[in-house]
Amino acid sequence: MRKFLIIPLLVIQTILYAADNYPRNEAIDIRHYLFKLEINDSTNQIAGETTVTVLFKKSISDFELDLTNINAQGQGMKVIEILLDQQVVKFTHQNDRLKIILPNPLKEGDEKKFIIKYSGIPQDGLVISKNKFGDRTFFGDNWPNRAHHWLPTIDHPYDKATCEFIVTAPAHYTVIATGEKLEESVIGKNTKLTHWKTSVVLPTKVMVMGAARFAIEYEGKVNGISVEAWVYPQNRLEGFSDYAIAAKCLEFFSKTIAPYPYEKLANVQSTTRYGGMENAGNIFYYENSVTGKNTIEGLVAHEVAHQWFGNSASENDWHHVWLSEGLSTYSTQLYLENAYGSKKLMEEMEKDRKQVINYFLKSPAPIVNTSITDITKVLNTNSYQKGSWILHMLRHEIGDENFFNGLRTYYKQYQLSNAMTDDFRKVMEAAAGKDLKGFFDQWIFRSGQPKLEVSWTYDQKRKQTRVTVEQKQADLFTFPLEVEVTNKLGNVKVDKIDISGRKQEFLIHGNEQTSGIRLDPAIWLLFEGTVKQTSK
Ligand SMILES: [Zn+2]
Repeated sequence: MRKFLIIPLLVIQTILYAADNYPRNEAIDIRHYLFKLEINDSTNQIAGETTVTVLFKKSISDFELDLTNINAQGQGMKVIEILLDQQVVKFTHQNDRLKIILPNPLKEGDEKKFIIKYSGIPQDGLVISKNKFGDRTFFGDNWPNRAHHWLPTIDHPYDKATCEFIVTAPAHYTVIATGEKLEESVIGKNTKLTHWKTSVVLPTKVMVMGAARFAIEYEGKVNGISVEAWVYPQNRLEGFSDYAIAAKCLEFFSKTIAPYPYEKLANVQSTTRYGGMENAGNIFYYENSVTGKNTIEGLVAHEVAHQWFGNSASENDWHHVWLSEGLSTYSTQLYLENAYGSKKLMEEMEKDRKQVINYFLKSPAPIVNTSITDITKVLNTNSYQKGSWILHMLRHEIGDENFFNGLRTYYKQYQLSNAMTDDFRKVMEAAAGKDLKGFFDQWIFRSGQPKLEVSWTYDQKRKQTRVTVEQKQADLFTFPLEVEVTNKLGNVKVDKIDISGRKQEFLIHGNEQTSGIRLDPAIWLLFEGTVKQTSK
């Protein structure tokens, strides 16, 4: 997802399960969710019936799902009945946990369907509101764990499942949801039923439906995948124009990483609280992403990249969300580099480097920051721009061929599944044929970056430039530093020096007097630094 540059005031919400101590249940595996939902125009009350297919991996007598209880304001879900094999089963529902008590213990290997009937007004997760044109709309907005405000689920990315939505709505709505459309019928008076289903396993954070008045453009297919724009009718032409860039993004990532994992690529104007939300196969963008001025190429590229990184290969723990956000941010840079050349990449990386250094001043924490307990706080400059920067340095460290092979192997190995930083490291080590533990330790698990004070002087007699590099930050880093030396004739050469100590001196030979030096001319190092010439 992409945050807004100016973060809007968010509704403060209570996160029951602080990151990332989610109570995982290794005894069950959710295989499929069938979400039947009824929405209406007179109230914000929804009626739900979810059929959860559960595979039992151990013999147990009860299990729990996440589902928000009704709060003091009357918002939340009330469970009416739960059925197993047409029999009513007992349950308890408190502290946003729905405990289903099995009439008989189920054994390892049993697969059962539980039908949960419920209703209520969503506290969050399904945003029911008027859009900017005053039309009533419904948009799922689940990230990170807001699905359980309207859908009974294991609301954590570790347990992925396939899903389908059968939505009954007043007939003037058009309904989009995850997967492919199996049915759209007017049933009865002024009621429409729409059925969408995916056969690809997903985390709940990207399973959604949306209902609104839409203008829809089917833009054509890229490698057999339908690319679509779903926008408010009042924004029809501007929206079709702004979202058309998605086809180019899809083409680039399919070629660079792997075939696209989902049934369609719909780009949807919506009321999401984020700049863009990468819902699988139907990305929801914020309303004002549509301007008709084609200024959202980076945003679209980021959300399309998430279809591989985050949706299919997902973090296994919220503290490792940089595997979604850092990879999608750097994938966007790769897309822009491919489209506009290496100068564009350098400009973008330089911009992000400033942002990372500024962020460090107010929040000196590592990328994987296990002290974060409010999981919405994992969305920060470290996960996005710093994560992207680490990938950029890794690419320089191991070379383009190894880097891109590593990315493809990582995706191949963890698609439709979950990974931790160590899993990613091991794949990249195998691709590079070298140990990268030190690299990952210093850049991902430790905070900060080098702060360098560099001085130089030219020794006329020995015909060499003496360069002194001092690391001023507390903990020392080990890294290659490229130094560009310009002589008085205007000739330029770049030397690479290996830095690991507190203060090191290097001699660079040159027959002509040096007129200046520049650090990291090609923008490959995350650092800050000053350079000065000394008399000797
Ligand atoms: Zn993102």
